Amino acid sequence: PGRAAPVRVRAEVDLGAVRANVRALRARAPRAELMAVVKADGYGHGLLPCARAARRAGASWLGTAVPEEALALRAAGDRGRVLCWLWTPGGPWREAIEADVDVAASGRWALDEIVAAARACGRTARVQLKADTGLGRNGCQPADWPDLVAAARAAEAEGAVRVTGIWSHFARADEPGDPSIAAQLDAFRTALETAERAGLAPEVRHMANSPATLTLPEAHFDLVRPGVSVYGLSPSPEVGVAADLGLRPAMTLSASLAQVKRVPAGHGVSYGHTYTTQGETTLALVPAGYGDGVPRHASGSGPVLVAGKLRTVAGRVAMDQFVVDLGGDRAEVGDEAVLFGPGDRGEPTAEDWARAVGTISYEIVTRVGARVPRVYV
Ligand code: PLP
Repeated sequence: PGRAAPVRVRAEVDLGAVRANVRALRARAPRAELMAVVKADGYGHGLLPCARAARRAGASWLGTAVPEEALALRAAGDRGRVLCWLWTPGGPWREAIEADVDVAASGRWALDEIVAAARACGRTARVQLKADTGLGRNGCQPADWPDLVAAARAAEAEGAVRVTGIWSHFARADEPGDPSIAAQLDAFRTALETAERAGLAPEVRHMANSPATLTLPEAHFDLVRPGVSVYGLSPSPEVGVAADLGLRPAMTLSASLAQVKRVPAGHGVSYGHTYTTQGETTLALVPAGYGDGVPRHASGSGPVLVAGKLRTVAGRVAMDQFVVDLGGDRAEVGDEAVLFGPGDRGEPTAEDWARAVGTISYEIVTRVGARVPRVYV
């Protein structure tokens, strides 16, 4: 019931699952607010529908990487709190400030551009200072932190900014027990003390991504910031299996078979003939390829449910299509091939694909291409 009409390929997104996941995550962090991370088109699931679903389930914040994402939320009418954290010089600060987006600053250049933009539009910018507590990616180094804090305090006194948040990000929260986790928490507390001593009083202090939300209550602070778990995926096998964590994968990627044919033994399949049929057999053509986000690394390894059984991609994944060998089984043109989904119909999961191609489930869902229609159920 409710299944989408057949099209070449489709990503069905279960917004009820997104809502249920947000509720389950809120229950894990009952004293914190929740920021649903919706960057990269909602990890491939669709920015606006997922944002709306997360809001309905109680996400008081949405998290975006790049300003275009934050501004798209506003253009679609979202009026809640939004944090945007990945900026480059000359970015659309003024538009973001005027749209009431909280903007992140990882260093002086960013704060200086924010202050200039706030002065230019006569508004008080809401700024969240990001500390590098050990991730070694973006964020302000401890040596530069007192200067950033002092400059932010001075800009507050002038009315150009209000520091609404102090935050950081983990490197290895998906490996529970890793010593870097405690070290980063210590460094974060030190950064908070420095900020508070300088007179900053942020509304929200936060550093918990999905694994920390799920496994590390002492990292919840005022707000948790889960991404991948909002879409029902476990951040890592060490953190657990989605169902055991109370999560339901929201995306099902499937396609309609475009050809079914009998071929003799010794038939080379797809570019490079890396697969050759062993005996007379039936080949089914799945009309989805790396142009749709199916990794070419899945050649010979990607799992697919066709005609009631799990199969493996036979030969190379091409830009638009790949082949599975059905052996003696039958299928019809138009039958459904399920690449991944929640797993309860016997189909593979995004995690199975991640294992098959040597990546993480985050990448499997996020790379599902713009050519694939999202169907919301
Ligand atoms: N916070 C920041 C700054 C991020 O970049 C991300 C995603 O990478 C998240 C939170 C969410 O992380 P996860 O998807 O592991 O929950």
